[in-house]
Amino acid sequence: MGSDYTQMWEELGLDLEAHDALLKVLGKFYGDIYLSQKGRLRGAEYLDFVLSEVHGLRIKELQEAKARGKKVVGTFCIFVPEELIWAAGGICVGLCAGADIGREAAERVLPRNTCALIKSFMGFKLARLCPFFESCDLVIGETTCDGKKKAYELLGEFGPVYVMEIPQMKEARDRILWKEEVLRLKDRVQELTGNKITADSLSDAIRMLNARRRVLQRLDSLRKAIPTPISGRDALLVNQISFYDDPQRFTQKIGELCDELEGRVARGEGVVPEDTRRIMLSGCPMAVPNWKLPYIVESSGAVIVGEESCIGVRNTRDLVSEKGKNMEGMIESIVDRYMKIDCACFTPNNERIENVVKMAKDLKVDGVIHYSLQFCDPYTIEAFKVERALEKEGIPVLKIETDYSMEDVEILKNRVEAFIGTLGK
Ligand code: SF4
Ligand code: SF4
Repeated sequence: MGSDYTQMWEELGLDLEAHDALLKVLGKFYGDIYLSQKGRLRGAEYLDFVLSEVHGLRIKELQEAKARGKKVVGTFCIFVPEELIWAAGGICVGLCAGADIGREAAERVLPRNTCALIKSFMGFKLARLCPFFESCDLVIGETTCDGKKKAYELLGEFGPVYVMEIPQMKEARDRILWKEEVLRLKDRVQELTGNKITADSLSDAIRMLNARRRVLQRLDSLRKAIPTPISGRDALLVNQISFYDDPQRFTQKIGELCDELEGRVARGEGVVPEDTRRIMLSGCPMAVPNWKLPYIVESSGAVIVGEESCIGVRNTRDLVSEKGKNMEGMIESIVDRYMKIDCACFTPNNERIENVVKMAKDLKVDGVIHYSLQFCDPYTIEAFKVERALEKEGIPVLKIETDYSMEDVEILKNRVEAFIGTLGK
């Protein structure tokens, strides 16, 4: 970290000692998992910089914006229509929940058999570890799964939390409910920021966030090349950073990174040799700094070429239509776009199975690793259907259930190595 931000963290009410320990762990992880990679891209300097300043410069920017009267809104799920937050003059940050460090604090209020993501966000709040969390004027939760739904009730005891009701099915009546929820959120963010959302501000927000999605789509399509030009770890990090960096800066920087990748692809250069086994990850989101499985896969002689995940393609596949000319038209477009999200919380969720198979074929993968967090019923149960559909197409699958701890690293490594060893060329 370039400057001393201690005073800022103190003012935010962080537990300085515990926060220091978190930064140390994060720094060590990042060094081992990222900086040790060979042949990294020039554009990765942006990733290294953002990560090294994740609790510094970006938080300072948020504090400065708050001093100018802006409101910061935190989210945990890609179902929250960010467009409305930006259109109301707010700043949206995706609150990461990918570290084990607050687990003890979380287990004082949550059952042990709760998924690591939920424990992580409760733990971060209870242990006062996350400056993004502490910068938020409002946190938006959603009723996606039962664990989150109930955890938000507890979270609400520590600060303002607003919960969106997410439908569980995709029938016409569910769309009606979802549209009502989108409009309810519009009112809430207008009330928070004191700004009225106009057709112009909403149109600008739609275009800004579509641009961010487009640049991520471009990155994903470059990864189709054989040999692939970027490691799965770096690509995951790009997706993770998209949740908290300034969207315009992010789009520009990742555009530059894609230019560099295009050059690599044109010259036939890869980050790994051409015959390296290509793996796709599918399943639960991997929030920063959850790099455990990608590191295991890529240090076992394979490369990850795609993530069928909310920190990945599920978040970037669909754009909001830019054809809506007035407020009503734009709201309809937002409603439609978010209803396409194929989260395992839906039933039935056949689109996801079709999307997984299509993606695996497009990316020409040798195998898919289905990743579920322990105690996550939606993804763990749906893994059966994913596996069956992929195997029908002759694509091998390894199903993994894990959490954020490091206790099972050796076991996972053995399983992943054995799986990669079975993938023929
Ligand atoms: S997996 Fe489902 S609940 Fe989790 S972030 Fe994605 S859409 Fe939201
Ligand atoms: S990983 Fe599964 S259990 Fe955990 S918050 Fe997401 S949907 Fe819920």
